[in-house]
This record gives sequence, C-alpha cells and structure tokens, in this order.
Amino acid sequence: MFMSDTVSLYLHIPFCRHRCAYCDFNTYTGLGDLQHAYAEALAGEIAQVGQAGRQEAGAPLHARTVFFGGGTPSLMTPADLGLILQNVREQFDLASTAEITMEANPGTVDGPYLEAVRALGVNRLSFGMQSAVEAELALLERSHDYATVQEAVALSRAAGFDNVSLDLIYGLPGQTLDSWRESLNAALALAPDHLSLYCLTIEPGTPMQRWLLEGRIAAPDPDLASEQYDLACARLAAEGWEHYEISNWARPGRACRHNLTYWRNEPYLGLGAGAHGYAGSTRYENVKQPRTYLRRLGEGNGAPYPLSGAAAAAHRVSDEEAMSDTMITQLRLLVEGLDVDAFARRFERGVREVYGETIEQLEGWGLLQERDGRLLLTERGWFLSNQVFYRFL
Ligand code: SF4
Repeated sequence: MFMSDTVSLYLHIPFCRHRCAYCDFNTYTGLGDLQHAYAEALAGEIAQVGQAGRQEAGAPLHARTVFFGGGTPSLMTPADLGLILQNVREQFDLASTAEITMEANPGTVDGPYLEAVRALGVNRLSFGMQSAVEAELALLERSHDYATVQEAVALSRAAGFDNVSLDLIYGLPGQTLDSWRESLNAALALAPDHLSLYCLTIEPGTPMQRWLLEGRIAAPDPDLASEQYDLACARLAAEGWEHYEISNWARPGRACRHNLTYWRNEPYLGLGAGAHGYAGSTRYENVKQPRTYLRRLGEGNGAPYPLSGAAAAAHRVSDEEAMSDTMITQLRLLVEGLDVDAFARRFERGVREVYGETIEQLEGWGLLQERDGRLLLTERGWFLSNQVFYRFL
C-alpha cells in the first residue's frame, strides 16, 4: 500500500445561517444547536483517524496544512474551533509554521472573534466576497455587501492576519464586463494576498437553476465569461500577481499550500460530514447529514486507515485512476504543470506511453505544451481546461 507519512487535513463545517441561491455544498441551515456536539464528534474523528495513521506509519503523521471549509466555519465558536485544533495537535505532528486556513463569511466576524481565532493558530482567512455589485450579491442571495467585506478585511489585518484571500464569481446572469471590472477593482482595493475567481456553474436542484428553468434569469453567456476571465488574467498579470492555478492568483509566496495538495494529487484526509479524502491509495467520502455523522461516530470505528466510523463509501485507487487524477489535477497548475519524470517514477510508465495520442492531439490544437520536462496548459487552454481534462478521464 502507498502510505505517505504526510497529509493535509480538510475539516468540513456544514452550517450556514442562510442558503445562497447558487449553493450545492453540503451545508445546512437551522442546525445551530448541533454545533458543539459536531465539534466534539469531529474531534473524535480526528482521534480515530490520527491513531490509525500513527499505527500504520509507526509515528504520528505529519500534517502539512489544515483547512476549515464549509459551510461557514466562522459560525463556530473559538472554543469549538480550539477543541478541534487541540485534537489535531494531539494526534498529528503539526508544524508551528503549518498553514491553517479558515473560510469565513464577511458578515459573521468581528474584531474579538478574529483575534481569538488568530490566537488559536489560524493564520490564513478566505472570505467569500463574490461581488461588489449590490444587484449581483442580491441575485446570489449573499447576506453581505461590499462595505461588510471591507470591514472584515480591515479587522483581519488588525487581528494579525497577513494572509487573506478573497473569492469572486464571474459568469453571473446579468453581469457585464464593466460590472465584473468593478468587482475586481473593489477586491484589489482591499489588497488581498490571494484571489480565487470562479466561473458560476448553475447546479441542479438550486434555486438558481429553478429561476433559469422558469425564465426568470437569463442563462450565463459563455463568451462573456471567457472575456471576463481574460480581463482578470490581463489585469492581474499587469499588477504582478502569480497566476498559479486556473482559477487562483497569489502574491509571491502566498499560493494556497492546502489546495496545492489537491492539485499535486497528494494525500489528504477529509474529516467531517460529507468530507472527501484520498490517502493510503483509498478515496472515500463521509456521510453527509450532520445527525447521521454524529450517530456514526458515536458507534465507534472498526474501519482501517484512512477511514473513520463516518465513512459512507470508499474504493482502492487503481493505477489507471491515479494516473488520470494526476493528469487532471497537475495540469491545473499553470506554472508548475505536470513533471514528466516524476510521473514516470511514480507509475513506472512514461506519460506519453500512456497518453501519447491524446497529448499529441491537444498539442496540435494548441491547448497543451511540453516545456523543460513539464506538461503545461497553453494560455489558450486555460479557459478551455475542461475540454482538455475530460480527454484524460
Ligand atoms: S455561505 Fe457558502 S456554503 Fe453557505 S450557503 Fe452560501 S455559498 Fe453555500
């Protein structure tokens, strides 16, 4: 079994105050009274998996990064976050310099809260800003405005956070190139360290999909979304940002180390309701419902590492799947790309031996290139990356 002694930890917090119109994440409203029990259960899951990992490896696993994702992690009290982090530190070897990120909703934080979270060791914040335009925030049913984001970022700096990321969404119904420029300018005016710019996908079962089917909103225009993406690429390049992943830009040294684990197809443990993980050559996902999650963890665990009592599905990753995953994740990295020699060492087969015909075709179309021993998307391939990736499935 491929057993790495270093992992990243993703901790899922499945609570939100309100459900945004486009959201299909595993999150729930009206379950605030479960939060403390959930923190205890998550601490229990960390202990189960941490101990199993320690037995397999003969020593505590190194935790490279910790990421509180959601949902809205910033709804958790500092005491509950502290309980969770204490368990991480007890069960894993967590370096004092490890990146510890918390996703946060701008309207849910104040100065004392941010200071308390910083004191726990959280050293990176990722705020869902999404837009600076009121009509767009209303369409998304976000519960904050631009002034709230401004305040949240200022409070974060005052609390000692020197690594703050903002998320924005383009490709929105009704959004124009000008309104997108306005949001981008507004985000840059807050001097973030990192930016994630996502193209809206209208997911099945969301209110936004219903509005689309009822004709209440227009379908997003892919050509306009492509222009919006190009505008962001040009603007951020001109300002010296590193465009290190298709949808992510960083100031020097501020690339998200946690997400780099996914994009390098390295092992991570997914803990919490509905979390996904990949470690010990196993991919798995946990039960989604928080109440089921609490019950399953209460029943103990007979499952082998990396699974806990909350695992709902798991499978061994074959070499074919691991190679395909490696192509799809590493090609997302626009500067680093896929290391051809490292691929051959890991799989004992050259990347062109496995995917030669597909690679040549994509090179012919100007979507892929090999440079200095690395396969990379071309600039033309950035926005069309999904067309590239599905060919490696
Ligand atoms: S805050 Fe985030 S996770 Fe919660 S409903 Fe909105 S988009 Fe979904």
